[in-house]
Amino acid sequence: MSGIVNELARPLDLRSQTTVERVEPAEKGWRILTDAGQEFSAGTLLLTPPAPQSMALLAHCVDCLPADIVSSLNNIAYNPCFALLATLGGPSQVPPPGCVKLDSGPIAFIADNTQKGISFGNAALTIHAQADFTRSYFEAPQDEVAQLLLDAAKPWLGSQLLTWQLHRWRYSQPVATLAEPYLFTLDPAPLALASDAFGGPRIEGAFLSGLAVAKRIIAGR
Ligand SMILES: Cc1cc2nc3c(=O)[nH]c(=O)nc-3n(C[C@H](O)[C@H](O)[C@H](O)COP(=O)(O)OP(=O)(O)OC[C@H]3O[C@@H](n4cnc5c(N)ncnc54)[C@H](O)[C@@H]3O)c2cc1C
Repeated sequence: MSGIVNELARPLDLRSQTTVERVEPAEKGWRILTDAGQEFSAGTLLLTPPAPQSMALLAHCVDCLPADIVSSLNNIAYNPCFALLATLGGPSQVPPPGCVKLDSGPIAFIADNTQKGISFGNAALTIHAQADFTRSYFEAPQDEVAQLLLDAAKPWLGSQLLTWQLHRWRYSQPVATLAEPYLFTLDPAPLALASDAFGGPRIEGAFLSGLAVAKRIIAGR
């Protein structure tokens, strides 16, 4: 999915692989400090990480933010999710059109990326764990988690397992979201917050939130 965003960002001065450590209001706008010691300045600051990560970046100036902004951010909650990518030596047993949704057990969802048309060569499955399972095993060793998910996925594997990779998403899906498409304040300096926690827990929601906040920023103060 990042291909679309990379294309949209092509004309922009974009610094990837750059971790922001903190942000603080400055005389005109904001100071942005990275973990590598770089410093940037901005008239308006737009934050789009998951709400707890935005709050951590703003930790040094929470007291000077409007109380309603702080409480809105604190009310956003997320489910965690393990995502396991498994490659197989032959076709899977996932039925057409290439997706299984489950209500109980460790697994919530299995997608066959070959049937989906985005994987070529060996069959590749994406397996998402249930939120409750992820919460219970969040700190467990990767091998243990992968084995539990692969055991539960056995009926749909259909072929020999070749490789697996496990990703652990702490803020995977916003479950308590906000009705408005973004937050914006001029106090103590122009600050906007947007993400899928405002627009709905999918790519589309994140896009619509970003579009709405961009219009607000372009409209000015
Ligand atoms: C496993 C999984 C599968 C999914 N599958 C689908 C799907 O099939 N279809 C769909 O529509 N949606 C899917 N989603 C949901 C979709 O990925 C999200 O809704 C969407 O990515 C949210 O976009 P966002 O811009 O709000 O946040 P993110 O995509 O989370 O972007 C936030 C960005 O902020 C950056 N960031 C955070 N902190 C810092 C910092 N301190 N310094 C610098 N950068 C920072 C992060 O690196 C990240 O790039 C899936 C999510 C997960 C976890």
